[in-house]
Amino acid sequence: MKQFQYIRSVNQKAALTAITQEPTAKFIAGGTNLLDLMKRHVMTPERLVDINKLPLREIKEENKRLNIGALALNSTVAEQSTVMKRFPLLSQALNAGASAQLRNMATVGGNLMQRTRCPYFYDTTTPCNKREPGSGCSALKGFNRMHAIFGASEHCIAVNPSDMNVALVALDASVHVSGPKGDRIIQMQDFHRLPGDQPEKDTILDKNELITAVTIPPSTLTHNHYLKVRDRSSYAFALVSVAAGLELDGKNIRQARLAMGGVAHKPWRLKEAEQSLAGKPASIESFQQAAEIAMRGAKGYGDNDFKLKLAPNSIVEALKIASRI
Ligand SMILES: Cc1cc2nc3c(=O)[nH]c(=O)nc-3n(C[C@H](O)[C@H](O)[C@H](O)COP(=O)(O)OP(=O)(O)OC[C@H]3O[C@@H](n4cnc5c(N)ncnc54)[C@H](O)[C@@H]3O)c2cc1C
Ligand code: SF4
Repeated sequence: MKQFQYIRSVNQKAALTAITQEPTAKFIAGGTNLLDLMKRHVMTPERLVDINKLPLREIKEENKRLNIGALALNSTVAEQSTVMKRFPLLSQALNAGASAQLRNMATVGGNLMQRTRCPYFYDTTTPCNKREPGSGCSALKGFNRMHAIFGASEHCIAVNPSDMNVALVALDASVHVSGPKGDRIIQMQDFHRLPGDQPEKDTILDKNELITAVTIPPSTLTHNHYLKVRDRSSYAFALVSVAAGLELDGKNIRQARLAMGGVAHKPWRLKEAEQSLAGKPASIESFQQAAEIAMRGAKGYGDNDFKLKLAPNSIVEALKIASRI
């Protein structure tokens, strides 16, 4: 690993000063992604700013919104009583990620910012536009089984690997950030970006901005399920995942929320499919119709063509389990 300077900040102001002073500096929280990337020379910051002493671990309700501090551990959030009761999608998605040991280290802010698992991104002997802009995309014509079927570009076909992000998008969460120019709130839907011709940028966060919290508005979803399809039943990233939330009025759907993981460079919200479900009966026919709408514009790259079938089947299955029909 390349040598680096380590600074432990005790307050937000000091953390922002320390990150701003060094152009390559990175915040470190649980370290479960960043340290792997540094050991493999994929990321080589000259300075790490440890934020673990900042008071950003609390999970609390404010004006009926759930406020989750950026340093709350993935395991703590997943097991928190309000999250389990009122936002089961988030609890299920977090528990579907990584392993118990990793969830005990990983933080909400770090999960939001984790990098793709494209194998070429981690292999510094191969071209990769995300790691080295302009060098090419090895996955386009290479091994692309885990890769995107929506929103990809000729420059990058990688996916966002997070489970948590899929649930947060479905729940209309917001990301609160603080930077040298002040504070701002970013809708979860807009936080991650599509690759376009700048795949090196995963999110719209500025380099010197600190994520301080995630908030979730009150949820009226009565029936929820997070379905994760993966190669092993634990400790594996999603091939395809679906966060499905329904508000049912008897057997009719009043409101639906749907998002997919493992299919795009960002958590993929299925707005049109959601609209198609509103007012319909909770039935296999309605779910199949929604899945058909959701798949419009999908494109495979060879090894990942199986996702074109797996994704709609997963949408139907997630809705079926959520609605208990
Ligand atoms: C073997 C393995 C399996 C895994 N499986 C899954 C899985 O199935 N599903 C899944 O969703 N995830 C999985 N993960 C990923 C795991 O969830 C992430 O590594 C973790 O969430 C990152 O959190 P962290 O706090 O450790 O982040 P760190 O590694 O500390 O940081 C990651 C990035 O976030 C930035 N960062 C951290 N906190 C902030 C902040 N507050 N503001 C701004 N930037 C910040 C850092 O600068 C860094 O760039 C797996 C990881 C491993 C190693
Ligand atoms: S898909 Fe993206 S991350 Fe993977 S090799 Fe291509 S540019 Fe790199």
